[in-house]
Amino acid sequence: MTTTEQPARPGRIDTDALRRKYAEERDKRLRPDGNAQYLRLTGEYAHYLDDPCTPWEERPPLTDHRTVVCVGGGFAGLVAGARLREAGVDVRIIDKGGDFGGTWYWNRYPGAQCDTASMVYLPLLEETGHMPTEKYVHGPEILAHCQRIGRQFGLYDDALFHTEVTRLTLNEERACWVIETSRGDRMTAQFVVLGTGPLSVPKLPGIPGIGSFRGHSFHTSRWDYGYTGGGPDGAPMSKLAGKRVGIIGTGATAVQCVPHLSRDCRELYVFQRTPSSVDVRDNHPIDPRWFAEVATPGWQQRWLQNFTANQSGGNAEEDLVQDGWTDIARRVRARIAALPLEDRSLAAMLAAYEESDFEKMEEIRARADAVVRDPGTAQKLKAWYRQLCKRPCFHDEYLQAFNSPGTHLVDTDGKGVQEITATGVVAAGRHYELDCVIFGSGFEVGTPYTRRAGFEVTGRGGGTLSEHWAGGMRTLHGIHVRGFPNLLFVQPTQGANLISNVPHNIVDSARTIAVTVRHVLDNGFAAVEPSQDAEDAWVSLLLSGPASMIGGPDCTPGYYNNEGQDPGSFLGRGYPYGPSAYFAYIEKWRTSGTFDGLGFS
Ligand code: NDP
Repeated sequence: MTTTEQPARPGRIDTDALRRKYAEERDKRLRPDGNAQYLRLTGEYAHYLDDPCTPWEERPPLTDHRTVVCVGGGFAGLVAGARLREAGVDVRIIDKGGDFGGTWYWNRYPGAQCDTASMVYLPLLEETGHMPTEKYVHGPEILAHCQRIGRQFGLYDDALFHTEVTRLTLNEERACWVIETSRGDRMTAQFVVLGTGPLSVPKLPGIPGIGSFRGHSFHTSRWDYGYTGGGPDGAPMSKLAGKRVGIIGTGATAVQCVPHLSRDCRELYVFQRTPSSVDVRDNHPIDPRWFAEVATPGWQQRWLQNFTANQSGGNAEEDLVQDGWTDIARRVRARIAALPLEDRSLAAMLAAYEESDFEKMEEIRARADAVVRDPGTAQKLKAWYRQLCKRPCFHDEYLQAFNSPGTHLVDTDGKGVQEITATGVVAAGRHYELDCVIFGSGFEVGTPYTRRAGFEVTGRGGGTLSEHWAGGMRTLHGIHVRGFPNLLFVQPTQGANLISNVPHNIVDSARTIAVTVRHVLDNGFAAVEPSQDAEDAWVSLLLSGPASMIGGPDCTPGYYNNEGQDPGSFLGRGYPYGPSAYFAYIEKWRTSGTFDGLGFS
């Protein structure tokens, strides 16, 4: 919290009125086109994907063989690659970016920063010996950490950058995968590890006239510092000093870059369809003496387990991270603990959760009144939904930016921008003349996996992954897929499904994958694949559990509930007993050495 900010104090909560208000606000935003409202960045929009960070270098196509090829050089590919290298396996990483980093390679917008505490968000801190400089570190430090992992585990030696996989095909006779790429490669690998990331395909809003704008425009994930001046370190964007800039979108990305734009633009217009909930950030530098005391052997695994247990209902006596993610869970637990034992039914627990949520959101809304000087603007910045309906945001300069005379909130009452013209943007019935439009419009989420990955996967008998998953994702442990031997996924869904700290899922899957690959190689097998029964049983187990507490049909539309259309499909299911239980289960599975559910041939 900044020193001038007073804690927000909400008044009495009228829960019925709040429920009605939430429903009204959701209904305003529901639209029949769901994900189809967004544009794919192909054809005339393809230039929005150009890499502004690294020059392209020619290289001859490859036709060689590796034991493992990882698709994706973000956290997933890097950590899987690191664990496999530690296990003595040769690994090549392929990425469409010009370096390692994934999300943190592309998202270099000013103010980019992790939202989950660095101590648990940054993978392999203990292995690399890196001390994060802040509780929530900024983008350049995260990118540098990715590069550090790449260097330390020798992953640069064999990496292929600016290379997009275009097709993956199983060669059953040779028991290997054929990997074709945008560079004309046709290489092979015994195993393919897929770490393509959940939010890696930028999208644009399908606003009428979007192609007609004659000023400058770019997506936040391809920030054009050549146009704005400044840099990812937050240096002033001096070239914006005389410019009228509009940003479309008020999600987690916009919340981080708006304060910088507000500081540097002549006029900034923030076009809002749905406000984010913006809670206190309370960042601070990490004290090396404190870190030295904390960072005893095994520390990061302890912190990961503690964070996960605290904010997803596991057992934890203390809260090491102490932040906005663990706060709501602390409140729910306190309410439940106050109930007599005989009253602790599921209904009572859900009621305790709803009450805590109302209380938390009232505080966040009261914060807008406490921080923003103009009461009308403060009112429009209030989020009317449960906290986990949309990605919670935390920032100590975002709401404050609207006190700056050159920063204007253009609220559209849930309707969004109406039109884009050659010279600006029409919203809430008015035309705004602009020099630059920045799209903070997010990434594809609810679309099919192979569409987002950018390639089809053809497995045993010519069956495709698109067909296998046409009725929804099917895996064993979120890692293995029947019909696709030696194909291994690194991602949260159908495993722990821990959304507040995706790297915890990744670090754990990477460990499982390294153990499994080592077992195949050590025993002279060619392939590993889950049995049909094991995959079916795992999917049934997942479906027997409660739906995710994140998103849901009562929520305002957004990517957490597939734009209000089919709440089940994106976040999917996790282990029914929760993330901590999944990590405990899989640790036991991994160390048992029996590899239940897998067949080796
Ligand atoms: P989001 O999808 O969260 O936000 C997109 C924004 O664009 C929303 O505010 C949306 O409004 C708005 N929008 C879409 N169409 C229109 C329209 N026609 N008119 C006006 N506004 C429109 O994308 P972000 O890039 O902000 O964030 C994506 C995710 O990336 C986050 O949820 C988070 O998971 C991750 N992220 C993580 C960070 C971190 O860890 N530090 C930082 C930044 C992002 P509406 O809400 O109404 O749909």
